[in-house]
Amino acid sequence: METRDLLYEGKAKKVFATDDPQLVLVSYKDDATAFNGEKKGTILGKGAINNRVTNHLMRLLEKQGVPTHYVRELSPTDTLVRRVTIVPLEVIVRNVAAGSLSKRLGLAEGTPMKKTVLEFCYKDDALGDPMVNEYHIAAMEWATPAELETICRYSLTVNRVLGEYLQDLNIQLIDFKLEFGKTDAGELVLADEISPDTCRFWDTVTHEKLDKDRFRRDMGGVEDAYQEIMKRLLGE
Ligand code: 5GP
Repeated sequence: METRDLLYEGKAKKVFATDDPQLVLVSYKDDATAFNGEKKGTILGKGAINNRVTNHLMRLLEKQGVPTHYVRELSPTDTLVRRVTIVPLEVIVRNVAAGSLSKRLGLAEGTPMKKTVLEFCYKDDALGDPMVNEYHIAAMEWATPAELETICRYSLTVNRVLGEYLQDLNIQLIDFKLEFGKTDAGELVLADEISPDTCRFWDTVTHEKLDKDRFRRDMGGVEDAYQEIMKRLLGE
């Protein structure tokens, strides 16, 4: 697959055109940012780990009936995906209080939620990705009510499938962020990534954090945590 122009460069990935207009190449970087780009750094090996972990989980989700943008892994850091228009929402799924939810509601981190919580944020760095609700989403036409219903259904399926899969690997799925895209044909698919950058993973027994919070909070052992996730999921 011959690559063409750089279409987009984000904080953690680059997206290139390919000779097929329906496909793009995603290339994962080791660059790490937090707090809306205020904190910057590098996590050695992160690009390859996030690429391979994402693809592993996307393949699992496809088998369980969640359509995704995933097409084919091209190299440790590069993947071919379907070209989509990203729905400008971050969908956050929470099983246990942590991070911004703990702050907002004054809940101790680690408090289990009695029911899975879904939140939506409008994807806009300049505005700091503000939280929005279904009324904002409909009024701003970011997604139709029917699309939003599909997004919620897929998000809850992702939570069930990944939660069960990770539990067997002694990983507790605390919370995570998803993004969805629409193909030219109008199909909604899961897009972006599912990795230690976008999920909170805690060791079930020790409650050790195995995700980007180690970078965000200067806890050390960042590379080791990403490696550990790779080892438990892919056996290497
Ligand atoms: P919180 O709202 O507590 O900061 O994040 C909730 C979950 O969503 C965490 O797993 C976090 O990694 C993920 N998340 C929320 N917003 C972003 C974002 O802008 N970038 C990334 N990589 N993850 C996010």
